[in-house]
Amino acid sequence: MITAKTLKLSLKSLRDFAKKRLPEETLLDLDARDECPLEIVRHMCDPDQLGIQLLFIPEDCGGFGGGAFDVYCVCEEMARIDLGVATAVLATFLGSDPITVGATPEQKKHWLSRIAQAGLLFAYGATEPEAGSDLGALKTTADRVMEDGKIVGYKITGNKQWISNGGVADAYSILANAPGGPSWFVVEKGTKGFNHDKPEDKHGIRLSNTAALSLDNVYVPADRLLGGVEGQGLTQAQLVFGYTRLMVAAFGLGAGWSAVDRAIPYSTKRIQAGAPLSEKQGYTHKLIVPHVTRLEAARAYIEQTAQRIDAGEGSLNTEGAIAKYMATEAGNAAAEASIQAFGGYGYTREYMVEKIKRDVRITTIYEGTSEIMEMTISRDRWQFHLKTRGQHYHDEAKKVEALHVAHSNVGADVAALSLHALAEVMERARIGRLTRYQHVLLRLGELIAYAECAGALCRRAALAADNKLDEKSNRRFDAPALAALARVFAREAALKVAEEGVRWIAGAGGLSAADSESFESSLRLPAIHRAQAGLLSDMDYIADVLYNRAAKRSQVAA
Ligand SMILES: Cc1cc2nc3c(=O)[nH]c(=O)nc-3n(C[C@H](O)[C@H](O)[C@H](O)COP(=O)(O)OP(=O)(O)OC[C@H]3O[C@@H](n4cnc5c(N)ncnc54)[C@H](O)[C@@H]3O)c2cc1C
Repeated sequence: MITAKTLKLSLKSLRDFAKKRLPEETLLDLDARDECPLEIVRHMCDPDQLGIQLLFIPEDCGGFGGGAFDVYCVCEEMARIDLGVATAVLATFLGSDPITVGATPEQKKHWLSRIAQAGLLFAYGATEPEAGSDLGALKTTADRVMEDGKIVGYKITGNKQWISNGGVADAYSILANAPGGPSWFVVEKGTKGFNHDKPEDKHGIRLSNTAALSLDNVYVPADRLLGGVEGQGLTQAQLVFGYTRLMVAAFGLGAGWSAVDRAIPYSTKRIQAGAPLSEKQGYTHKLIVPHVTRLEAARAYIEQTAQRIDAGEGSLNTEGAIAKYMATEAGNAAAEASIQAFGGYGYTREYMVEKIKRDVRITTIYEGTSEIMEMTISRDRWQFHLKTRGQHYHDEAKKVEALHVAHSNVGADVAALSLHALAEVMERARIGRLTRYQHVLLRLGELIAYAECAGALCRRAALAADNKLDEKSNRRFDAPALAALARVFAREAALKVAEEGVRWIAGAGGLSAADSESFESSLRLPAIHRAQAGLLSDMDYIADVLYNRAAKRSQVAA
């Protein structure tokens, strides 16, 4: 267990370390040279120095036993520093996950203690040249080596692709097909027949080493099979998705905010047409405010999911997928808008936003692409819809309506409209059997993510109003600002669900002329349209908060 105070201190040490060892000019230089700062990564993982990996190692293996919420906070902070370095550290988190969830007690003690005490760098070897999103297609094999009728070891043969830390790790978790099915093995560097390729020349995260691996009859003793039973590999990989996707979600959040936090001060100094850009509504309300709103909607969902994982509600894979999808798409869009916010300067390498944009792009790809997230979300929630005979999202809407009774200013009534509309769209899709169209299925995934995040942000704003936010929760915005953010996002989600819902249901042939009026009225479109009133003044308020003009604004009002 990590206290809020210890977490705060760890985050501060991380920031101080980065200020000293990874200033912007060093980051830009390493990026241009396409170089992983291995010595710095090792320093971060050295228990006598920063020892950042201690955070996620259980206490009985020499770590601090941090939970999902702690890991989210650290991942966000690391992404704000540099996403390549963050990826190098994440690779050890990821590489050791099959051990954390699947290993025998002896294996756990052995490997996790070595990570804690010796700062061992790990890599996570799942992807193959022909098995990416579809890991079941993996071709790497692990053949049993028998002696006197007993399995004494395995010979692993195959290729792994795009492995973070691939060329620099000390040990690797490798997914391979054993006779009993896909299984995780630990392979140490330098083992005969085990090689890595030269680092990939990548679009972004150039401070992270990514390399292909080749395994040619690599012998490992039987105790390297994690959990000691063959065929558990895909289940073990599934068990950590909620948690690991939350880490990548935090990467999207941190990188997105890092870009916006550069655009905001820049726009106060850049004078065009006689005034700073920060005072131009057409600038702030397009390039800054919507991105901040979506980032904070994603944060609300990340925090809610992390709390639930820490409370023992299970691995929450779908919630992890929603968090990852929303935060990484928001982070990517925020970085893109930040280039625009800097104008021509944003397009040059010297200004960090260009690098951040290239870096954050990976977050919508690794640990499951956005399209795979949409599919995961949609398939899971579709089952909820069927099992409850279409009531699941109506019930969720009712919970948010109850919130509106106590907190009428957090947009909960509008978030409820988005959830009711979602239930109606899904029901139309069921009646027309429209999820047979994969595009409809995946678009539903996006609408589900928006509606659920709208609910989460309203809840977070209400908690802030009641002074009940988690001690470790992000405090950038106060309760009134969170309420304004929640109202803006709820309006966006409701409109998106209703209008795009009509688009895809009608587009897939699910609406006859006779049906269309009753469907539109079930979506409560007029109410959703009316709920857009006040949007601009809420955006003005958020801009004032971001630019620290709230005091000025209230003085003017007084
Ligand atoms: C820099 C970097 C670091 C990485 N680090 C690691 C690591 O440490 N360990 C590791 O194991 N892997 C790692 N990966 C691999 C990463 O997880 C995969 O690239 C990712 O899962 C996608 O797989 P793929 O590249 O084979 O793309 P594909 O699966 O071929 O997908 C290509 C496109 O098709 C879409 N698509 C795929 N399947 C479907 C479908 N059924 N329906 C509709 N659309 C679909 C995808 O969304 C994507 O847009 C890394 C990748 C990169 C680039």
